[in-house]
Amino acid sequence: MAFGWIEEQAEQRRRAGLVRTLRPRPADSPLLDLASNDYLGLAHHPEVAEGAAGAARIWGGGSTGSRLVTGTTELHTELERELAGFCGFEAALVFSSGYAANLAAVTVLGPHGSLIVSDALNHASLIDGCRLARGATQVVGHADPDGVRKALGTHEGPAVVVSDTVFSVDGDAAPLAALAEACRERGAGLLVDDAHGLGVLGDGGRGAPYAAGLAGADDVVVTATLSKSLGSQGGVVLGPAGVIDHLVNAARTFIFDTGLAPAAAGAALAALRLLRREPARAARAREVAAELHARLTAAGLEAVRPDAAVVSVRAPSPEQAVRWAADCRTAGLAVGCFRPPSVPDGISRLRLTARADLSGAEIERAVRVIGETRP
Ligand code: PMP
Repeated sequence: MAFGWIEEQAEQRRRAGLVRTLRPRPADSPLLDLASNDYLGLAHHPEVAEGAAGAARIWGGGSTGSRLVTGTTELHTELERELAGFCGFEAALVFSSGYAANLAAVTVLGPHGSLIVSDALNHASLIDGCRLARGATQVVGHADPDGVRKALGTHEGPAVVVSDTVFSVDGDAAPLAALAEACRERGAGLLVDDAHGLGVLGDGGRGAPYAAGLAGADDVVVTATLSKSLGSQGGVVLGPAGVIDHLVNAARTFIFDTGLAPAAAGAALAALRLLRREPARAARAREVAAELHARLTAAGLEAVRPDAAVVSVRAPSPEQAVRWAADCRTAGLAVGCFRPPSVPDGISRLRLTARADLSGAEIERAVRVIGETRP
């Protein structure tokens, strides 16, 4: 049996209680959503939906080709110009996903003969970028600028330090200024993934690098996704124009991938313009996170102090985390549930999204349900 080994793995997974299943979300879900990454509540905003619909009407259902052939519309270049301007970088390049953007950035900045220094808790897409890159990867401890310094050592040739800005599981922020300092001492570049920072951190949501004073630096490259705060889909790399031009010429997930769908570009552009007009949304997401954390802590739950809009609550075991999330769902609340092997540290947790559009009553209700269903 050619695929018999898969059944053996499935059986092991069942025995360990780690089977994952897909649950289609109905359009009119009655659940209170603290599980999505829609940090600013923009995915369903009428202007964002119209941004998608209008773009599809003009440009079609797909981009029709790779970016270097027919897949670059005027909408793509407009989005790139506005994203770069908003985040304070010279240039930007959009991809069909944040995952593809990370694969591109890591592989291009970590060529043969280079050293890639990677935080132990980086997102899977950065890890996969390291695996695909021709350079040598050295994994260092979590949020450890001294470890980074040591890893860079006296390496000759290109070097790049890779980190999330806000870690996706616990929602803690990387020490960006200290990382940049370590990089500069050793002449290394800094590549950070701002998937969970864009739209939430920095003045009006301009992102964690902006907040850390790194926007526009000639030795800093940023990746982000359009699928979280911007309520759309797609990814972006921001940085010096020379680096972006190099990506256009060398990044395989750019060159050989069909361009971002016009609807996704249109939605992201509409969301970006909305955020410019309503910058308080970013601060509100941070406020909701702080309030969630305070209320959870007051209820005796172990929650990690949030640096952005992700609030992580410890669960005693993977099985109890799964049951806890299911009990929340039964009580009308959708929460994320992270457990091994998605979390390398073996700690299972509920993951809550502090959406900017949650009302005080909704925050209260969420905390009540989480408290009442705790294992
Ligand atoms: N980086 C981080 C930190 C993420 O959390 C995610 C999304 N889960 C990605 C990259 C990938 O982005 P996308 O979903 O747009 O592919």
